[in-house]
Amino acid sequence: MSRPGAIAPLSKGATVILGNEPILLTPGPLTTSPATRQAMLRDWGSWDAAFNQMTQSVCADLAAIANGGAEYVCVPLQGSGTFSVEAALGTLVPRQGLVLVPNNGAYCARIVRILQRLGIDYLELPLEDDEPVSAAAIEDAFNQHARITHVAQVHLETSAGLLNPLDEIAAVCKRHGKSLIVDAMSSFGALPIDLSRGGIDALISASGKCLEGVPGMGFVIVRRGVLEASEGRSPSLALDLHDQYVYMRETTQWRFTPPTHVIAALRAALDQFLAEGGRAARGARYAKNCEALVEGMRALGFEPFLKPEVQAPVIVTFHAPRDPAYDFKTFYAAVRDAGYVLYPGKLTKMETFRVGCIGAIDANEMRNAVAAIGRTLAALGVRVR
Ligand SMILES: *Cc1c(COP(=O)(O)O)cnc(C)c1O
Repeated sequence: MSRPGAIAPLSKGATVILGNEPILLTPGPLTTSPATRQAMLRDWGSWDAAFNQMTQSVCADLAAIANGGAEYVCVPLQGSGTFSVEAALGTLVPRQGLVLVPNNGAYCARIVRILQRLGIDYLELPLEDDEPVSAAAIEDAFNQHARITHVAQVHLETSAGLLNPLDEIAAVCKRHGKSLIVDAMSSFGALPIDLSRGGIDALISASGKCLEGVPGMGFVIVRRGVLEASEGRSPSLALDLHDQYVYMRETTQWRFTPPTHVIAALRAALDQFLAEGGRAARGARYAKNCEALVEGMRALGFEPFLKPEVQAPVIVTFHAPRDPAYDFKTFYAAVRDAGYVLYPGKLTKMETFRVGCIGAIDANEMRNAVAAIGRTLAALGVRVR
């Protein structure tokens, strides 16, 4: 045993490698680096000053990634990303508010369900799965419904991989004085988001997506004044973002049991993120991954569901082969045996499957994945076209 407080070294001969574990081509949980997993090999106490400093340094780095200056605070929250979305909506939107929800996928629909549970009025702006919302459509809604107080916008709709034009949306919200809450779950850390331009009151993401940490913690980067004005509003105790913020500010500790290993892994993941060159470098690597994936899949005969101009380099939806011999479950299991985990489609109207291009992987790994997909289809006797 090592002395208390020391980071336990790996035992002699132990290595942290991918081994035979498959590469996760899913947008969270995703494939993490050995250094990130290694950071979880010790236990931390919640009173441990070093642990609480680690939480503070993680939050400071997260706010800096979005260029959130002194006006913004980052509040972390236990749980998966949805917990933080629900916490943000329940804490930041007054009960008499009216929230506009542009809806082009399952994560937008989840926001609607959260608002229903919270008993908050909302107005849905229905869109197709491949149709980004336009700032003009949002402005029309503002002009028709003066009661709208908030917009809850998903930046990157992970259902199809669709990118919504956040800068334009933020600009129109700013011009009309509406509060914008952004689910940036699968874009934060890879795609540009600049809080200093104004227009965004709150930005939500989580540990286990483009930051390449492990899942288990979300966070909300929120305008300090907006958060401070929300005392006593949350109908939930555990999801009260204001309470979490105040407790943490006063004690440096998490309000309830912290996800210690998740924070330690995220600290390591952020160190690697910064060493890689930050947000721009992360986004560039994912863009290359996405390009290699789409190019390789096209060569196999697959067509992406989205047009290139609205495709975000995070997850790509492909039309399933029309061949009656194709069955997703069989295909999935065979590709998994070849070392790669795919993702089912999430569109209601047509049969698709998805391949993520985020995680501690590079374009070579994407090419290997495509080769494995090609071999698998041949072995299953499935024709793509
Ligand atoms: C992953 C994700 C979430 C959160 O989902 P969880 O299953 O709770 O982690 C929310 N919104 C978007 C756009 C996502 O991609």
